[in-house]
Amino acid sequence: MAVKRVPLLAGNWKMNLDHLQAIAFVQKLAWTLKDADHDVADAEVAVFPPFTDLRSVQTLVAADKLPIAYGAQDLSAQDSGAFTGEISGSFLAQLDCTYVIIGHSERRTLHAEDDAQVKAKTAAAVKHGLVPVICVGETAEDLAEQGPSAVPVAQLTTALEGLDSSADIVVAYEPVWAIGSGQAATPDQAEQVAAALREVIRSVLGEDAAARTRILYGGSVKSSNIAGFMREPNVDGALIGGASLDVAEFSSIVRFQK
Ligand code: PGA
Repeated sequence: MAVKRVPLLAGNWKMNLDHLQAIAFVQKLAWTLKDADHDVADAEVAVFPPFTDLRSVQTLVAADKLPIAYGAQDLSAQDSGAFTGEISGSFLAQLDCTYVIIGHSERRTLHAEDDAQVKAKTAAAVKHGLVPVICVGETAEDLAEQGPSAVPVAQLTTALEGLDSSADIVVAYEPVWAIGSGQAATPDQAEQVAAALREVIRSVLGEDAAARTRILYGGSVKSSNIAGFMREPNVDGALIGGASLDVAEFSSIVRFQK
């Protein structure tokens, strides 16, 4: 029997919105979703604020029982110790984070994170009961030289090594050339790579994991193009950067029509 995968619409705030702005944003988002009669069974909504916002978001979501999940944008591969500036997965779990983004292309490019670090961070997230949102994607150069799937497939294959087949994970396919460029991949392109990534999950973690794991597309997603991605069989949601910072726009994305 086919497994129903609840779509995940995830807003990656990057280094935007301080904790006061985060409170106002999450409140407004919750009102907008409520007005729209949003049902979490139809689509799950998650936000990924900066670390310093997480405690405020936790307090607000818990107090008002908001149907909004949240997570961090990164974590340390280590549990604790002399790692100045790092944040442990156990701290994030204490703040009731559901998710943590791992290996975003901005971390890979600006902080030289390699596949081995992404793998270690993925294992750390799972160890602490967090769901890793593992980001993979090719640059324009990779695309020209190797086609769309080779780099994301290699990145994901390494990230999944050693994971238990029962691990709860999310994969985000984000072509680097599409991030923040206004030039999204086509739904066809996203589907082609998502299907290849599902094959990786199948071969490394097995059939059940392949059937239940959500694969997101990310890169210049907005309300005017989300429906096309969501029609694709292997695309189960989106990781949204710029367009997730506007409550009205993000809410329209969440309420995508197939
Ligand atoms: P974008 O960013 O939606 O602004 O292209 C996506 C991301 O970086 O996750």
